[in-house]
Parts: sequence; structure tokens; C-alpha cells
Amino acid sequence: TGSSVQKEEPTTVEKGLGFKGHDMLAPFTPGWQSTDLHPLIIEKSEGSYAYDSNGKKYLDALAGLWCTALGGNEPRLVAAATKQLNTLPFYHSFWNRTTRPSLDLAKELLETFTATKMAKAFFTNSGSEANDTQVKLVWYYNNALGRPDKKKFIARHKSYHGSTLIAASLSGLPALHQKFDLPAPFVLHTDCPHYWRHHLPGETEEEFSTRLANNLENLILKEGPETIAAFIAEPVMGAGGVITPPATYFEKVQAVVKKYDILFIADEVICAFGRLGYMYGCDKYNIKPDLVSVAKALSSAYMPIGAVLVSPEVSDVIHSQSSKLGSFSHGFTYSGHPVACAVAIETLKIYKERNIVEQVRSIAPRFQDGVKAFSDSPIIGEIRGTGLILGTEFTDNKSPNDPFPAEWGVGAYFGAQCEKHGMLIRVAGDNIMMSPPFIMTPSEVDELISLYGKALKDTEEYVKELKSK
Ligand code: PMP
Repeated sequence: TGSSVQKEEPTTVEKGLGFKGHDMLAPFTPGWQSTDLHPLIIEKSEGSYAYDSNGKKYLDALAGLWCTALGGNEPRLVAAATKQLNTLPFYHSFWNRTTRPSLDLAKELLETFTATKMAKAFFTNSGSEANDTQVKLVWYYNNALGRPDKKKFIARHKSYHGSTLIAASLSGLPALHQKFDLPAPFVLHTDCPHYWRHHLPGETEEEFSTRLANNLENLILKEGPETIAAFIAEPVMGAGGVITPPATYFEKVQAVVKKYDILFIADEVICAFGRLGYMYGCDKYNIKPDLVSVAKALSSAYMPIGAVLVSPEVSDVIHSQSSKLGSFSHGFTYSGHPVACAVAIETLKIYKERNIVEQVRSIAPRFQDGVKAFSDSPIIGEIRGTGLILGTEFTDNKSPNDPFPAEWGVGAYFGAQCEKHGMLIRVAGDNIMMSPPFIMTPSEVDELISLYGKALKDTEEYVKELKSK
């Protein structure tokens, strides 16, 4: 973004460092020079809308960063935070001391997960910390079992699991690795299950899934099953471009993973709490994980909080062996922060009361069908998604093998047009992504579709012009 014309001058500083810019070094913003641009400053949010510092209104089609599930100004969440801040703004959960909200949230959260039984919840501040915690839990578990060599992780190309050292290593996106000396050597990456892009001529979805499961098995055998600790997967890949799994994929990879005594970690940071029209992605795809990561919609993003859910088998081993190995010496000052937990408890209560899964299901077809109706556009390769998550990939000739020249910035152009017309989305190269709040009304969905259509028309003209040159 950065394309919108801002009346307000940014507060630039010049510190003799050879660059100009704001004082803040912004995440995932291109380089130091980024702060030379006029950042879009979001000042207020209301329901499904956000407002910038000039008062311009945007439909927040990404729900912040795939997270503000209940939208911008849910008074019950504000009240829950305020009440807790007035009672006990902070106490930690180390050394057998804790707070009531963290205990209560653990109970409530475990009850929401029904794909298989989960015994314990460990709190973090983010999805990245949840996935880092997964690695440490799994290593501790295998050390407890006397299997010190079973430590490698398998993730998928194009996955996103976070940006801390370990979570970035698990992620399968080159930008997270290059120039950071990552991934860490214990992380291996297997195929991205993107049927449209990677299937062989004539290969059905089922056959594609079989081939990927075979490749996974071959990788395990090549490395030695005794060295592979866990497999981690997002039910629907988010930041990699909203990639939904092909038919029978999870059935087949789960069978492989189970065969070699490898733990299955479901990264539900985007999918959990209703986004796919199911409480969890695991419910939709019949995944029976050993460990689950959640964050984002757990508090509707009103407070930073994430969690790891641990199966009885894993927690039993950790519990029974901790006298030998010592305590699980891992955690954060803010693990189970009482204000974040109080907000998350209220969030889960609202999801239940408003039957959020049904609400998503009732609105999702309008959203999916409405956007997918643009699939015939000559600049769109594929539109894909399910529930309230959707990605569009711009390619030439409707082919995964004919990308537009990177310097055309087709995805970025589309994103800028959305912003111009009053809608916020996510751009990653020529992939654009949307994950609107769960509370979207039918008329807001119609507005989203109309804004998408306007931005698409602008982008088609832009591409036509570039092609004619
Ligand atoms: N896992 C997934 C699937 C995610 O989408 C994200 C964030 N987009 C993360 C982990 C990392 O979460 P956080 O940014 O809260 O660290």
C-alpha cells in the first residue's frame, strides 16, 4: 500500500543515518526506506470498517491481519478488558502461581476443540510463540521418551507459521529465510498441496494427494523415521496464498505421519474459531492432531494472546517424565496474561451465544460465490477459498505457469485500487487475500464484491495497457 494520498505529512525524522523516515521500524515493510512513504495510519474501527487519519472509510476485508473476527468495536470485549484491568491488570503464571482468568480460559478453550481430545492449554502472546512452543514441547517429549534423535520437523513449502527464528524456519516462504540464515537445519519442507499449480496433466485431486503423501513418506524414509519428530500444517494455508487442501490430502498425510510415530501439529492460527465455517479447520478436514496452535481470533485480536493445545498422550509423557527431566522450563512473562485471558473468555462466550460458526456458514456462500464469479477475468489465474477466507492469484493466460512480469506489480496494483476505492486487503506478490470479520452482514459482503469488481476492472485496464506497450 502506501499509495493513498494523505493530507497529513508523516512525522519524518532525519538522524544522519543516510535515510529519512519514521522512528518506527515497521514489520514486513520493504526496507528502511519504507518509512519514507506515507504510511496509511488507521485510527478507528467500527464493525467491519476501519478509518484512516483523514477520516476515509475502508471495508476491512482482511479483519486486521486475519484476526478481528468480531470487528471493530465490540463493547463486551472492551468491558471484559476494563473489568479485569480494574481488578488485576497483571499477575504471572510461573511456579504454580496463576490467575483465575488463565485457568478459566484454559478450560473454556479446551472445550471448544472437539476433533479429538485435548488435555492442556499453554498460553503465549502470539502465533509465532505458539509454534516455537510446539517445537520445544515436542523436543522435551522425545527427550522424555529417550528418543534424543527424533527431533526434525517437516513443514510445507508456502506455509506460514510465524516470524520468530523457529516459526520462520517452519514457514515455507523464501522471504522469511533469505538473509536470515534460515531455515534452521532441523526443519525440512515438503510439497505445497496446491492442486492448480502443481498437479500433473490428467492427475485428479485424489491422485495428486496420493503423490504428495508418497513424497512425504519418501522424505521420511530418506531422513530416517527415527529422526522425524513432527509434521506441522495449516488446515488452509493462509499467507502462502489461501491454499485449500485437495480432496483426501489430510487423510493421506495423516496416515503417513501416524505410521512413523510422528506427531501432527495443526497450525490453526488463522482457521480456528469459525473462519472456515467450522469451529476448527481440524473439524472440516477430519484432522486428529496431537498439538494445535491458536491465536488471532482467540481474542478477536483485542488483546495479544495465543495458545498451544496438547493431547493427553503428549501431556502425560511430559507430566510423568518431568521429575526426571526437570520442569518444562519455558514460558513468557505474559503467558496467560489475565487481561488477554479475560477478553478471550468473553470472545469465546460471544462465539457460542451468537453461534458464530452458523453465522459464518450463512454468509460464506454469498462471499465465495460473489467473488468467484470474477474467475473468468483474463488476468485471474485462480480464485480459491472456503468459508470466510479467499485468495486470488493473478496470472496471464489463466495459467499457473505464466506469471505477469514481477515489475508490473499486478497484485500490488490491485491492492492499491482496493485501497483507493475503500477496502483493505492483503497483497503478497500477485496473490491477494481476504478474510473478512465473522460479523459481516449480507450488504457488507455485497459491498466487498462490488469493491473487488471495481479494483479488478482497474487492474484489467492496467494490464491491458502494459501489454499493448
Ligand atoms: N501461524 C499462522 C498460520 C499464521 O497465519 C500466523 C500469522 N499470520 C502465525 C502463525 C504467526 O502469528 P503471529 O503473527 O501472532 O506471531
